[in-house]
Order: sequence, then structure tokens, then C-alpha cells
Amino acid sequence: MSREHRDPDCIFCKIVHGEIPSARVLETEHAVAFLDVNPVNKGHVLIVPRAHHRQVAELPDALAAHAGSLLPRLVRAVHAATGSDGSNVIVNSGRAAGQTIDHCHWHIIPRFFNDPVDWPWPHAEYLGDEIGQMAFRISRELVEPPLDE
Ligand code: 5GP
Ligand code: ZN
Repeated sequence: MSREHRDPDCIFCKIVHGEIPSARVLETEHAVAFLDVNPVNKGHVLIVPRAHHRQVAELPDALAAHAGSLLPRLVRAVHAATGSDGSNVIVNSGRAAGQTIDHCHWHIIPRFFNDPVDWPWPHAEYLGDEIGQMAFRISRELVEPPLDE
């Protein structure tokens, strides 16, 4: 897995390289986890691959797998440290989805019964065979090979 990708203007690249301080909770060869400075709830952790890739769709599979492998342990630690009742683990991808820092990252947000967070989001419905057609359109695209480095 490469660690060479870097964007000189990226805040998370600067954090990964120690040029901006962060409250780190876990470091591996390929990823860093630190506290979100403006948490949804206190204990909100970000998992950031060291290499700069803008969105999850651009991440090499091995790096995505590595970041994902850190999730269970980090979720357990956040739960134990905050006394949370649950958590949201999310990746925002693109401005339409609320991504503000263009260096792919996972959020682990501790959640509490009766906390003020506006969730869950609304759900739509499929009509007729729309659901089958959508499954076909997506599965047809999966002939694309996974991304390497
Ligand atoms: P996004 O909206 O891109 O999914 O998430 C970016 C997150 O990064 C936000 O939750 C924001 O609070 C956090 N953030 C932005 N700048 C900094 C920073 O300089 N340090 C830390 N620790 N978190 C940051
Ligand atoms: Zn970056």
C-alpha cells in the first residue's frame, strides 16, 4: 500500500504528517485515527488513511480494507470511553453528501438515547419494478475491476 499520495493544501494530510496538531487515538502504518475537533457528540473519531485519496470511490481496495479493519476495535473503544448507547459509522462522499474535507475518512460518532442529533434520515419507496431495475443497473457496473494502488 502506498503512502506517497499527498496534497500540500489538504488539512488531513497536514494532520497525518504532524504539521497540524490532533488528538490521536490510534496510528498504524497506513492510517491515523484522531478526534474530530468539532464533534457531533464528544468522542467523535475520524479514521484517515495516510495516503491522500479524495473519495471512497478512489480508494485502493487494500487501503479501504485496512481502514475498515480498524472499525470494530475503535467502535468498542469509543463506546467504552463515552458510555454511548450506539454509534453511527459513516463516510460522506462528495459535497452533495456533506463531505467538506476532500481526503477520504470514516466518522465514528457515539450516539446517546435522546441526544439532539437529527437522525435517522428520511426513507423513500420504490414503485413497481424500480427496485429490480436499480439492482440490475448497479450490479452491471460491478464488472469494473477493483482499484489497485
Ligand atoms: P466531512 O464533512 O468531510 O465528512 O468531515 C470533516 C470533519 O473534519 C468535520 O466533522 C470537521 O469537524 C472535522 N475537521 C475539520 N477540520 C479539522 C481539523 O483541523 N482537525 C480535526 N481534528 N478535525 C477537523
Ligand atoms: Zn489529504
